[in-house]
Amino acid sequence: MDGSTVGTAYWHRTGDGRVQCDVCPRACRLNEGQRGFCFVRMRQQDAIVLTTYGRSSGYCVDPIEKKPLNHFLPGSAVLSFGTAGCNLGCRFCQNWDISTSRETDTLADEAAPSAIARAAARLGCRSVAFTYNDPVIFLEYAIDVADACRDAGVKAVAVTAGYMCAQPRAEFYRHIDAANVDLKGFTGDFYRRTCLASLDPVLETLLYLRHETGVWLEITNLLIPGLNDSDAEIDAMTRWVAGQLGPDVPVHFTAFHPDFKMRDRPATPSATLTRARRIASDNGLRYAYTGNVHDPAGQSTRCHECGAVLIERDWYRLGAWQLTGDGRCVTCGTPLAGVFDGPPGTWGPRRLPVRIANQ
Ligand code: SF4
Repeated sequence: MDGSTVGTAYWHRTGDGRVQCDVCPRACRLNEGQRGFCFVRMRQQDAIVLTTYGRSSGYCVDPIEKKPLNHFLPGSAVLSFGTAGCNLGCRFCQNWDISTSRETDTLADEAAPSAIARAAARLGCRSVAFTYNDPVIFLEYAIDVADACRDAGVKAVAVTAGYMCAQPRAEFYRHIDAANVDLKGFTGDFYRRTCLASLDPVLETLLYLRHETGVWLEITNLLIPGLNDSDAEIDAMTRWVAGQLGPDVPVHFTAFHPDFKMRDRPATPSATLTRARRIASDNGLRYAYTGNVHDPAGQSTRCHECGAVLIERDWYRLGAWQLTGDGRCVTCGTPLAGVFDGPPGTWGPRRLPVRIANQ
């Protein structure tokens, strides 16, 4: 094994001489030397290994609103990175150069967990985010980074599709402070045809996070014209979120841009995002947002009790702030759901690529 390859715990032998990975519902059954669907896990010396430990496709300091998380340390900087590969096969992938990478060249940067934690603290980041591709597939590395960050007073954020098996899920989220789960649609058919995956495990992850962990949860739903943007589907999804997860889970409706294997669809009109937001509000969700467009009305946070604007936003830029230090409405004192800690961060909309050298 080289330095980037480590053993893993979630696999078992099958009766036919193959070895099955138990990290995600794809349940890849591998012969010696074969890689899983995600590319980064493979069978080597009769066991499943992770081949990209300590390797990244690059590091960048972003606003936390870009993950998107609107109720988790607003305005703060987050050190973001991903690796290569993915365990879903979304035809509309917006990070396809990373997620479909079969080249170890994509993994230009190499950093130990302690180096990432030190860099995050030095750069003034309140958190580190596993993003661009799904941390589920490199969970051993993500867990070590999250632990090193926690020791340095930096929180850990997972940006994920939530397509994961129960056992590794429980281990992974013990180390995570906040998650944005991409709920890609609300029909099994959409997941099957467009993402090469299934809906039920994602719903199980959402239920698990909300009811069995203290992880702060927000949801993203990318709306694609003609595929998952009907009134009926948005209504069913937001009813489910309100009923099963409660009214305080923020939902971000974001705009699709033609990409990867889906260039035949137009970009999502902002009217679609506004319509989705209205349906969500009608179904009782308190915090429904629009994303990937300029829409201050659809991106600002209001007090669900008195209607005052608590956090004004335009894309990733914060405006007026009407919250007390512990996250209550200045006007009526109602607590705002989320994780707040003093005044807002001042990172703004900047995106700063950084190099992290092992020391
Ligand atoms: S994590 Fe990768 S190797 Fe494991 S089951 Fe999922 S796609 Fe297959």
